[in-house]
Amino acid sequence: MDCKKATRLLSDAEERELTARERFGLRFHVLICTACRRFQSQLQLLRHLLSHATPKMLASVYASGVRLSDSRRQKIKDLLWQATQEP
Ligand SMILES: [Zn+2]
Repeated sequence: MDCKKATRLLSDAEERELTARERFGLRFHVLICTACRRFQSQLQLLRHLLSHATPKMLASVYASGVRLSDSRRQKIKDLLWQATQEP
């Protein structure tokens, strides 16, 4: 399994149950790949934050003018784009 496939599966796992084969391959890849391990923990953090955020909190963060830097924003775009590509 390559990183492209691994990041796609990590994103897919948010929406559907992975097959046993996918889970096994992904677990092994994440074990040996620092980049995908980091991606996985960022996804978990994001999910955690979003699950605890109320609409009021999200609105106040938005209103505070906090914005991601352009490079950070681009990085997230790249990851999302990669994650939606076919292997
Ligand atoms: Zn990887």
